[in-house]
Amino acid sequence: MNSKPSIYGLTLDALSGWLTEHGEKKSRASHIWEALYTARATEFEQMTAVNAACLDLLREHFSLNTMTEFVKQEASDGTVKFLLQLHDGSLIETVLMRKKYGLSVCVTTQVGCNIGCSFCASGLIKKSRDLTAGEVVEQIMTVQRYLDAAGSGDKVTNIVVMGIGEPFDNFEHLINFLEIVKDRKGLAIAAKRITVSTSGIPDKIRAFADLGTQTHLAISLHAPNNELRTRIMKINRAFPIEKLMDAVRYYLDTTGRRIMFEYILLSEVNDGRETAAELADLLDEFKELASINLIPYNPVDEHSQYQRSTAEAIDGFYDVLKKRGINATVRMEHGTDIDAACGQLRSKQMKNEGTAVS
Ligand code: SF4
Repeated sequence: MNSKPSIYGLTLDALSGWLTEHGEKKSRASHIWEALYTARATEFEQMTAVNAACLDLLREHFSLNTMTEFVKQEASDGTVKFLLQLHDGSLIETVLMRKKYGLSVCVTTQVGCNIGCSFCASGLIKKSRDLTAGEVVEQIMTVQRYLDAAGSGDKVTNIVVMGIGEPFDNFEHLINFLEIVKDRKGLAIAAKRITVSTSGIPDKIRAFADLGTQTHLAISLHAPNNELRTRIMKINRAFPIEKLMDAVRYYLDTTGRRIMFEYILLSEVNDGRETAAELADLLDEFKELASINLIPYNPVDEHSQYQRSTAEAIDGFYDVLKKRGINATVRMEHGTDIDAACGQLRSKQMKNEGTAVS
């Protein structure tokens, strides 16, 4: 497949600059931009407002489609999971979720992941490379084209950067991606409709705070102490809870914005009332600005050591937090009749193909 860089990786300014450097009028950038994001051209030929010489130039240097749809699963609740194949053959996942507030897309930022969360199907496959900003934008465009084909006039309204990979381990491309999707002349997805989720890399949390963006931040916590968190997330060895909480303090002091903690509930591992009380102690100082999203575990074949918490355990955990004044929610599930857990579709496909999955 075409290995030229994706044209979606350019901001409008970068596109203008590139055109000028290549002897074209800067003003053509807005025509190309409109063809990409309003007309949603799938071939350069469809950019009818752009002259032939400029189209040749674009064709020579860029690709409009660097990925293909490999598998698509549609759930009865409207969730759609896309398994996409990149130009180098790698597979990634992108998910469309229908929420009360709009249509949200969960994007992938890396091929594989090095964070090593012990419950995650994606983490079984080591990171082989970062995605470019263009490849992340193209995931949104793939979903938008799917919606366009349905003819309902629906538009992607929200983005969660929570798919395969650690977005803060691909920081530059992430920031470029955010700039592109927020552009009012393009996809125009407002920063406050975007959430970036990190496993907790302290210096990148600080750098993100310093950007002064309105984009929401979520942190995968999953345990209130180092012993348990290291068991669940290998990254805690490098960045223990004390360092993570220092970075959270910096983020809250610098931005004054709210922060979300993600907590996956694993039966009889981290879902006891005592653990909930310990979590309430840890988050007590942040409770004005922090909320915690409790996520009942979606069992996957690859991690048979983990089971879903019982309804009583989920309720009990939630109650302890609520009584302590911690703002908590239990995440609604999406796509339970398809391979809903992150990375599940990809790892299943790779297994079927005999690709090594440890
Ligand atoms: S949960 Fe996210 S950060 Fe953890 S291994 Fe899976 S993809 Fe990586």
